[in-house]
Amino acid sequence: MLKEESSYKTAILFIVLITLVLGGSLLSSKIWAGKPKESSGLIIEEGMTIGQFGQVNNLPNPVLRDTFQLQGPADRQKQLSEFGTPEQIKSMFGEKTEYETKDWRKIAVKFVLWFAFLTSVYFYFKKRKVTLKVRRWVLFASVVIFGVIMGSDPGPMGTVKDAIAILGESGKIFPPRLIAMTVFLLIVFVANKYICAWGCQAGTLQDLIFRLNQNDNGKAIIGKQIKLPFIVTNSIRIMFLVVFTIIAFLWSYDIVEPIDPFKIFKPSHLGIAGVVFVGALLIFSLFIYRPWCHLFCPFGLAGWIVEKFSRVKISVNYDTCIACNKCAKACPSTVMSAILKRNKKTIPDCFACYSCRDVCPTNSISFSTRKRTMPPAGHFDKAPAE
Ligand code: SF4
Ligand code: SF4
Repeated sequence: MLKEESSYKTAILFIVLITLVLGGSLLSSKIWAGKPKESSGLIIEEGMTIGQFGQVNNLPNPVLRDTFQLQGPADRQKQLSEFGTPEQIKSMFGEKTEYETKDWRKIAVKFVLWFAFLTSVYFYFKKRKVTLKVRRWVLFASVVIFGVIMGSDPGPMGTVKDAIAILGESGKIFPPRLIAMTVFLLIVFVANKYICAWGCQAGTLQDLIFRLNQNDNGKAIIGKQIKLPFIVTNSIRIMFLVVFTIIAFLWSYDIVEPIDPFKIFKPSHLGIAGVVFVGALLIFSLFIYRPWCHLFCPFGLAGWIVEKFSRVKISVNYDTCIACNKCAKACPSTVMSAILKRNKKTIPDCFACYSCRDVCPTNSISFSTRKRTMPPAGHFDKAPAE
C-alpha cells in the first residue's frame, strides 16, 4: 500500500516536473523573444518567402538584404527556394547567423552563473553529505536556471555537436563555439564531470528524474533501476558520433537536430520525432541513469576522455576502506564497481554525484586532488565488488 502510494507520488512528480519545464520554457522563450535568436538551427519550411524566413528566424532586415542581395522591399516576397537548397541557405548564413543571432550578453551572464553555481555547489558539498532532498533541489535549481530561464543554448553538448555539424555543413569553424567547448572541457579537466553533474540542462534534468524514482535508501520506487554495461553504452555512443560525423560531412545533415533533448527547453522547436524521442528518453531516465549522456552525447564522450586527466576526482583511500561495497551499490552507474575492480583502463564516466562518498561508513571516499590508486590485490576478495 505504502509502495503504491509512493509510486503514484513519483509518477505525479514526474508529470509535474515535465509540465513545469515545458510551460516555463515556453514562457521564458516568449520573454526572450525579440532578442536575437538563440539557436544555431535555422527554420526553413517549404514554400517560405524571404520575408517569412526572416520573421520566423528573427533575422534583421540588413542581414537578409546583404545575404540575399535584395534590391528592395518587394524582393522579400521572393521564394526562399530560388536562392538554393535548405543546406545551401544554411551555409550562406553559417557564420553570420551564429554571430548575429546570438545574445552575447545573455551568454556571458549564463557563463558567470555557471561559474558561481558550480563553485557554490562544490564548496557547499565539500563538507556536507548530499541528502536526497538537497540533491533534488540542487538539480531542480540547475534545470530551472540553466534550462528553463537561460534556455538550451549554449549547453555543453551543443558546443561539440554544433562544431562538427557546422563544419560538415558549411566547412566553417565558429571560434566562440570552440572557446565555449574549451571552457567546458577545462571544467572537466579541473573537476571531473562537474559541469555535466550540476550544470548541464539536459544532464541535470535526467538526473533529477532518476532521483525522483529513488527513496532515501537509493531503491527504485517504480520498477527497477538498472546499470547498463559500459562496454555497451560506450560502443553505442562512439558509433553514434561516427555516424553523426559521416552524415554531417557527406550529406550536410545534422541527425541530432530532430531529436536533440536540449530542445525540451525550446518546446516550439520540437517536431514529432523530437517529441517521441525526448519523451521516451525522459521516461527511460526513471530507470537508467542519464541515458542520453551514456548512449549518445558527443560531449559526454569527449568529456569521458578528458576526465582521465581530471585533477579533482573521486578516489578511495584503501587504508581505511573496509571493502563493504556500499559505494558500488550506491553509484548510479558502473563507475565505482570499475574503480574497485582495479579496472584502470576503462573506468566509465563519473558524474561527480557524491553518492558513493556519502554512503561510505568509514569516510574513505573523497572528491579531491588525491591520486586515484589501485586497491591492494585481494582487498575485495571476501566481498567482491558488485
Ligand atoms: S553528457 Fe549529459 S550532462 Fe554532459 S553534456 Fe552531455 S547531456 Fe549534458
Ligand atoms: S557514485 Fe561516485 S563513482 Fe559513481 S558516478 Fe557518483 S561520484 Fe562517480
